[in-house]
Amino acid sequence: MGIVITNGRIINPATGLDSIADLRIAGERIDRIAGRIQAEEEDQVIDAAGCYVMPGFVDLHVHLREPGQTDKETIESGSMAAARGGVTTLVAMPNTSPVVDNPELVDFVQEKAKDCGMTHVLQAGSITKGMEGKELSDLSGMLEKGVRAISEDGKSVMDSGLLREAMEIAADANIPVLAHCEDIRLVQGGVMNKGKRSEELDVPGISNAVENIIEARDIMLAEETGAALHLCHCSTKESYDLIREAKAKGIRVSGEVCPHHFTLTEEDIPSSEDSNYKMNPPLRSREDRDALIKGLSDGTFEVISTDHAPHTDEEKAKDFVHAPFGIVGLETSASLTYTQLVKTGYLTPMMMAEKMSYRPAQILHIDRGDISEGKMADVVIFDPNTSYVVDPRDFYSKGHNTPFAGWTLNGVVRTTILDGRIVYTRTQEEE
Ligand SMILES: [Zn+2]
Repeated sequence: MGIVITNGRIINPATGLDSIADLRIAGERIDRIAGRIQAEEEDQVIDAAGCYVMPGFVDLHVHLREPGQTDKETIESGSMAAARGGVTTLVAMPNTSPVVDNPELVDFVQEKAKDCGMTHVLQAGSITKGMEGKELSDLSGMLEKGVRAISEDGKSVMDSGLLREAMEIAADANIPVLAHCEDIRLVQGGVMNKGKRSEELDVPGISNAVENIIEARDIMLAEETGAALHLCHCSTKESYDLIREAKAKGIRVSGEVCPHHFTLTEEDIPSSEDSNYKMNPPLRSREDRDALIKGLSDGTFEVISTDHAPHTDEEKAKDFVHAPFGIVGLETSASLTYTQLVKTGYLTPMMMAEKMSYRPAQILHIDRGDISEGKMADVVIFDPNTSYVVDPRDFYSKGHNTPFAGWTLNGVVRTTILDGRIVYTRTQEEE
């Protein structure tokens, strides 16, 4: 018994295929792609007329909060949110409680995620023990458990010598370092972008240099060690130049942009009361935002990922100074990308699939993000013609902290297929 998806626009960056065709899944794998496929007797048929049929999204930046912070999110609720967002593989960041800095915890998360079976979860290992920045975690032990990336996300490893050591290990193992770039000494209590809006609202600001200094340092260390450096949540116009220069020199660097950073600017922050606009790095100036869009369009930034960061309603009811940083993103990422970048002509649908699936899979060196015949069937059916109003109460995530509540967005995930199994179908009630 298989699944035949008919009449969809099949978009597969791995082969450059972009055409209306049928696609058949048999068991866990893509069986066939052809102009017309006759369904076999027991096959389930899904009519995807008007929809994109793309490789399932690969999100390099997700906070599942488990172990330890299950009031914010669990592996299960986060996995369900991923499936609803069309995400079939995600990287879970290690800044949980306790920090994922050892093989046992890597096992715990990945086994639990496997039991949920809603999305593939790859746990990132922390770079230093307890994320304290003092000594390296058990990197080789975690590598044996299949860790595909290391990260200190939530902060930077401020000790350059220690980071250099970690990068050498990552280079040997051929896994990327996912770098959160923030010079902690320079933050000085900042809670939003240092600029016009922070002055108007009279709250401490975070300057671009906070991010740029560490990005520049990390690029230099990547050059010296040969490690693959992936810059998380780029938010400044200078990150555009830094990445371009590094790439021109042949340094192994990639950069991601999150939907909130290409959609919003500091000017959108309504007041210092609404911390659904508070994240790290912060919403920047219009100039910064425009550079991010330009960079996504011209290939400087290769990846779109969410930095999905759920918090409880109580925590986010606090004001800008007191609430924690972060917003949820898994369930709005595809429609924000479509609405803000594809519909407007900055990206083609092919580039959307590239940045949300194919490139991140390549960065992780996993055999996903490709729906060629014979590949594992992680597939998303995305309908660009339907619009909806974002209602956080509909989220599968435990987090409701989004600045996009009430927004009308274009494009919905209709169906998500994981290893040939349907894990999400949009229902009538969700329309
Ligand atoms: Zn981060």
